[in-house]
Amino acid sequence: MYLALRKLNVLGSVLYIAAHPDDENTRLMIYFSKDRMYRTGYLSLTRGDGGQNLIGNEQGIELGLIRTQELLSARRIDGAEQFFSRAYDFGYSKNPEETFTKWDKEKILSDVVWVIRKFQPDIIITRFPTTGEGGHGHHTASAILANEAFTAAADPKRFPEQLSAGSDGKFVKPWQPKRILWNSFNFGGTNLTSNDQFKFDVGGYNPLLGKSYGEIAAASRSQHKSQGFGVAASRGEAIEYFKTTGGSTPINDIMDDVELTWKRVQGGQAISKMIDNLSSSFDLFHPENSVKGLVELYRSMSKLPDGYWRNQKLKEVQQLIEQCSGLFLDATSPEQFAVQTDSIRINFFLNNRLGVNAILKDVSIDAFDSALNMSLSKNKNAIFGKPVFVPPTKPITQPYWLENKMEEGYFNVRDQQKIGQPDIDPAYVATFTINIEGLDFIFFKPVKYKFTDPVRGEVYAPLVIIPPITFRDFNPLYVKTETQTGLEVSFLANKSVTIPDARIVSHSPVSKADTLPLLIGGVSLSKKQVYTETISDKELDPKVYKINIAPDSFRGGYIQKSIAYDHIPYITYFKEALLTVKKFDLKIIGKKIGYIVGAGDKVPEALEEMGYDVTLLGDKELSRNNLQQFDAIITGVRAYNTDAWLNNYYDKLMKYVDGGGNLIVQYNTVNFISNVKSRIGPYNFEIVNRRVTDENAEVKFLNPDHSVLHFPNEITQNDFKGWIQERSIYHAANFDKTNFETIFSMHDPGENDDEGSLIISRYGKGSFVYTGLVFFRELPAGVPGAYRLMANLIALNKQKAF
Ligand SMILES: [Zn+2]
Repeated sequence: MYLALRKLNVLGSVLYIAAHPDDENTRLMIYFSKDRMYRTGYLSLTRGDGGQNLIGNEQGIELGLIRTQELLSARRIDGAEQFFSRAYDFGYSKNPEETFTKWDKEKILSDVVWVIRKFQPDIIITRFPTTGEGGHGHHTASAILANEAFTAAADPKRFPEQLSAGSDGKFVKPWQPKRILWNSFNFGGTNLTSNDQFKFDVGGYNPLLGKSYGEIAAASRSQHKSQGFGVAASRGEAIEYFKTTGGSTPINDIMDDVELTWKRVQGGQAISKMIDNLSSSFDLFHPENSVKGLVELYRSMSKLPDGYWRNQKLKEVQQLIEQCSGLFLDATSPEQFAVQTDSIRINFFLNNRLGVNAILKDVSIDAFDSALNMSLSKNKNAIFGKPVFVPPTKPITQPYWLENKMEEGYFNVRDQQKIGQPDIDPAYVATFTINIEGLDFIFFKPVKYKFTDPVRGEVYAPLVIIPPITFRDFNPLYVKTETQTGLEVSFLANKSVTIPDARIVSHSPVSKADTLPLLIGGVSLSKKQVYTETISDKELDPKVYKINIAPDSFRGGYIQKSIAYDHIPYITYFKEALLTVKKFDLKIIGKKIGYIVGAGDKVPEALEEMGYDVTLLGDKELSRNNLQQFDAIITGVRAYNTDAWLNNYYDKLMKYVDGGGNLIVQYNTVNFISNVKSRIGPYNFEIVNRRVTDENAEVKFLNPDHSVLHFPNEITQNDFKGWIQERSIYHAANFDKTNFETIFSMHDPGENDDEGSLIISRYGKGSFVYTGLVFFRELPAGVPGAYRLMANLIALNKQKAF
């Protein structure tokens, strides 16, 4: 409270800009937010969708949802605010030119400009230089965009659609920050700092918080758990270096020539004096004694001319009034899910713990409004509840960036006001109007699901709006093979429903809508009941279906997806129940596959679609099972990085290969967080960080007679069409060609050919394969060539002639 009180007298702001969750310099941001007491923000262009997930199998948009929440957790610790652009983290990019072919540079630039115009930073800091030393193309692109936006934000001719026509406060005005600086770095063996750069120490200690900035930074940074970025606390001097890339170069202080006091607001000097008085008379044991003064301050501030700092500081004062009063305001639901066309109960709980003069005048949410006149007595609980009907028009809880179909490189967001917003809006917001010391204040509190967990204690989680019927998740890709029998579809009644004349309908976006046979009718389901039907194989033609119940009054065309980890709030989103049916020429030899899971991927589902029986193999299963029963054993992505116990089975796996087995190892990484600790193959090879990120890169056949190109499927150039995102990552290198055969050669534009995407070795009666080819991306995406090539890899030890 005391820190917040002192902060009222500081009118300055800093915006940090980079590309991904974890790029930000947390220690510097905490220093700005808690020591300098500036309004501090981080604009991460992406949500980190494309990285690796070290805690689960979520990839793509799901990983982005996790990292969004991890960043918000970090911000709760360091006190900065979070923003995002529409850019999608589509995976590793070698240079900014490639990045901009996917991002739509003008759109993402407009987002950066919008955030700058809204946040109005005095200075902007980039993590990376525009010249490429940041490595990843997204990094360099983030610096290029930040520097272009530094100028464009001030130019009324750029993105004029963002500019305010009237005074509704919804749109923005041009804004020129004082300067933009690159926060140069010394990590990963690259030292780009130098003593002639502008520098200062951010390693101080904050006695009000009882912590060094390096200690708080470690707590904040360690929230990036999906990336395994737990770090140790640091203490002592920590020098940060800066190079000015736009605006005037600072001489004495990074905020040179920025007015940081109430002088920047007309009539603000009197306000400054009031804040000084409140600070000097603040009683740590009786913060409530400051409430009258704070209410007076609020009144005086409200009379200042409308403007950025007036409005920002009014919010801060109101928050302080709430804290100094010891006010507790809570709106919760005993249920996690509110079902459209059903009712939920919302409980309100208030306590005026320090006994300021407070009268509750009104409580409302969008479904009701109750005028009250209830005096809140000191430390007495005020409790009441209301049932609330959830109308069918109430939108289901969906992150706004997933509402529309996305492009390859960015999300489609139609509402300009949402741009930059880090998170979804709460399902319901409770509005409490409370008169405190003679002035009415309106407090907004999101309605949360509250429960007590026997292990974690009291937990608050988001309240989620769901439709009356949701489909159970099914594999969105159906491959028609000789062994397929049909698709099992289940749906769940989220409330009791009667479906009078229902069928599962379908339509293809490419042809006219059509309907699958009537499946059910006149069915009554009680709440939580699951109904299952099978759509037979002969009903499924190769096209895209949307699975739904007709008529659509049950709004059931969705699959509810949830992601739960202890370090972040519970995440829910919905995906449309779409089914892609594919039919292509695919022969398989062999039946039983053992799959060692690793970091998590959706390859086993694809193998089952192909007609194999898949047994998942963990530590126990590997020790108990006779491996010779498997036609092939495949290791999931990064298995040797994540499963240290694999080292115990090296001999057993080699014996399996020697005896006629077939071990197929998908990519493993080599970098600072993960190392391969176990031996992998029968002969030595290394894994290196070499990749082919161009998904259309030409593939040359080095070894055209090799059985992997002919048996049982004939592989041609056609099989390398339609790949997504990339070809191959983490290639094999430094192997002896008498032991390993190479099959393909490929390269990214401007680079040399590389032969390490697939290496095959014979060992005893069997075979061993290491491959960086991204089957984990191509199989779930339904790329036929990846299926046919995988089938051939599995059949490697089945052909005598080989
Ligand atoms: Zn990054």
